[in-house]
Amino acid sequence: MGLATFKGGIHPYEGKELSENKPVQVLQPKGDLVFPLSQHIGAPAKPLVAAGDQVLVGQKLGEAAGYISACVISSVSGTVKSVEPRLTSGGTEVPSVIVENDEKYQAVDGFGIQRDPKTLSKEDIRSIIKEAGIVGLGGAGFPTHIKLSPKEDSKIDTIIVNGAECEPYLTADYRLMIEEPESLIGGLNIILQLFENAKGVIGIEDNKPEAIKRLTELVKNEPRITVFPLKTKYPQGGERAMIYGVTGRKINSSMLPSDVGCIVDNVDTVISIYNAVAKSIPLIRRILTVTGDAITNPQNYNVRMGTGYSELLEASGGFKTEPEKVISGGPMMGNALFDMNVPVTKTSSSLVCFEKDEVAEVPTSACIRCGRCVTVCPGRIVPQLLIKAAEQSDLERFLKLDGMECCECGCCSYICPARLPLTQSFKEMRKNAREKAQKGEA
Ligand code: SF4
Ligand code: SF4
Repeated sequence: MGLATFKGGIHPYEGKELSENKPVQVLQPKGDLVFPLSQHIGAPAKPLVAAGDQVLVGQKLGEAAGYISACVISSVSGTVKSVEPRLTSGGTEVPSVIVENDEKYQAVDGFGIQRDPKTLSKEDIRSIIKEAGIVGLGGAGFPTHIKLSPKEDSKIDTIIVNGAECEPYLTADYRLMIEEPESLIGGLNIILQLFENAKGVIGIEDNKPEAIKRLTELVKNEPRITVFPLKTKYPQGGERAMIYGVTGRKINSSMLPSDVGCIVDNVDTVISIYNAVAKSIPLIRRILTVTGDAITNPQNYNVRMGTGYSELLEASGGFKTEPEKVISGGPMMGNALFDMNVPVTKTSSSLVCFEKDEVAEVPTSACIRCGRCVTVCPGRIVPQLLIKAAEQSDLERFLKLDGMECCECGCCSYICPARLPLTQSFKEMRKNAREKAQKGEA
């Protein structure tokens, strides 16, 4: 029997060889740091500082405002220059705190102090995670303290660490799994402390044998944790695909993983939980990959939040050749980036730069009804029909055809010989549907 996986999906060129053997390098910022107050799903954080204030590493710049929200923490010490809108990698301007780095890296009291997680209550652990500003670092940005607070702790039976990193070219999670496996297991054990009936499963695609080997070795004496190799296939790391691959349970767009007894957290998120709970270090840095055939020296970095993308590019030796396409995030689900003057935030997983924009070069044509999009769709929907509804802006039909089950993975666009902008159109329709639902119109 083959390895576990989900139905549908594709095998795009992986491109991981460019950076997978590059150990994570610490990159210290040079310029001002920019901290958007909204770098998570939910309400933007409320600013706690104003121009002229002195701040320390680990100090809260913004307070979580509302049930679904997250704090924003300073990654440097220095002076607040302003609180003003700044461009982010998502393409929108967001109110942000700008800090001039004094390069002393003086931290708040208690920063970095070791704690024994076993002495902490569930309440303590959830509160530390909230105060540390931790959100899903795989790109979703959902506040982690909320994810770890389901209705009933006792109904959760599986905590999945998402180590698939199925997006082509990205290697930051892979490097973390082989460079900081103890912290990963430490973080998973902290989560397991919250859910007495749960086991921990680290799901890893089988194109990362070194990570599977190291972690399997380490969990030998961890009775509640196993390593679960999964077939390499995009989007194996999607939450629904991961849950199905590991447990065989299915969820749809109106369900939460906790409805089927699961909680899924990305590798860097779990390590950030360990850092916050066991070492009193809030979320002030993340690991990301700078790569692509247009980058001089592809590399994985440990970078302080708020650092400019332009500094990442400079550290990687700049462009080898002028890129036609620059993406923040993975090539399948990331956003095209048109300005390097944006900061690293909690959801920045990578900077990928390509010499050629292959999509732009191929003209679109009419649908030839080949059905390939249907075969690859992990949402088990029919992109071929959905695109007709999207072209006619027919939201009712889009919803009838289960358009909200689309996870925007990009598989249909990737495989479509007519090069139709399938995923892009579905994203737009889904956004409209959500906006209408919020206004009570749908
Ligand atoms: S319709 Fe959505 S879920 Fe299905 S392949 Fe396309 S982008 Fe992915
Ligand atoms: S893959 Fe493209 S051309 Fe083929 S059926 Fe789907 S939309 Fe039509």
